[in-house]
Amino acid sequence: MSTLQAVLRRAILAAAESERMHRFVGKHGMRLGAARFVAGETLDAAVPVLRRLNERGLLTNTTLLGEGVSDEAETRCVVELYKELLDRIQTEQLRTNVALKLTHLGLALDEEVAYANISELVDHARDRDNFIRIDMEESAYVDATLRTYRRLRESGRDNVGTVLQSYLYRTEQDLQGLLDLQPNLRLVKGAYLEPPDIAYPKKEDVDSAYERLVEQKLSGGGYTAIATHDERLIERAIAYAEREQIGRERFQFQLLYGVRPRLQLDLAQRGFSVLVATPYGPDWYRYLMRRLAERPANLMFFARSLVRR
Ligand SMILES: Cc1cc2nc3c(=O)[nH]c(=O)nc-3n(C[C@H](O)[C@H](O)[C@H](O)COP(=O)(O)OP(=O)(O)OC[C@H]3O[C@@H](n4cnc5c(N)ncnc54)[C@H](O)[C@@H]3O)c2cc1C
Repeated sequence: MSTLQAVLRRAILAAAESERMHRFVGKHGMRLGAARFVAGETLDAAVPVLRRLNERGLLTNTTLLGEGVSDEAETRCVVELYKELLDRIQTEQLRTNVALKLTHLGLALDEEVAYANISELVDHARDRDNFIRIDMEESAYVDATLRTYRRLRESGRDNVGTVLQSYLYRTEQDLQGLLDLQPNLRLVKGAYLEPPDIAYPKKEDVDSAYERLVEQKLSGGGYTAIATHDERLIERAIAYAEREQIGRERFQFQLLYGVRPRLQLDLAQRGFSVLVATPYGPDWYRYLMRRLAERPANLMFFARSLVRR
């Protein structure tokens, strides 16, 4: 990433916090291009999108977009919506699992509330042969997220995974600390604005850490979701797995809906498991801003739609 891109990334993530920006993008964003990254504002709109991806040989996960909640009662509504989603996936026979954020289940209010909610959902998913992945959020939530994941696994729940971010200095140690669980982990570079005392500021360091993490995880056991659009790192992961004779059933590539669709199909056609993360819901603002920050060129796409209106 050039210095300009790095500056833009930070500027977009910082601007995302502005109320005015939220109001403007919230009002016009879906028409202006958010639909490229989001399967729709309702579950009914998302179902045909998920089905179409499945028909092309791609697995999917989905998320009801949202992150902060203001009270415990609101977390109960979120739990009910996720149960409805898991039921719908089953009746529609979709090859779709679920990813969610613990702050959406109350982590910022009370870790115990979030734990009770996630346990209930993981059990609901297990009864429907499904799987839940806990996304990783800002660094302030990493300890609580990893604690929650370990607690779920140690209580006998296996249909659950979480995420590690290579931009954090702490992550290699976190990985070592989890390997005894033979964990199912998604590895990402990291999407939030983090200070240089806890996260690599330079893209090349984030990329090198990512490659090390993939190798340590593949060799360390469990299941590995390699979630990046970076073709160089994808090819290096494939070469490593072949060299180390790590079977294709032990890892998967994950990409975001709307990002590098050709690459998604190419990898599937080469015989790899590929999952497309395909979120939905009316609360798509923060998700969209992170996608714009990852590739400031997306801003041009957005700006062009604005001019064309
Ligand atoms: C399935 C999945 C789940 C994720 N879950 C989390 C999570 O739980 N927590 C978290 O912090 N982060 C998560 N992320 C986001 C991740 O941390 C990165 O911010 C994001 O994937 C961009 O990094 P990259 O690895 O694709 O590499 P980059 O080096 O950023 O990008 C490589 C290339 O991919 C393309 N590209 C990347 N992003 C975009 C985009 N938005 N639009 C268009 N093209 C793009 C560009 O061509 C770019 O050159 C997730 C990503 C994926 C794919």
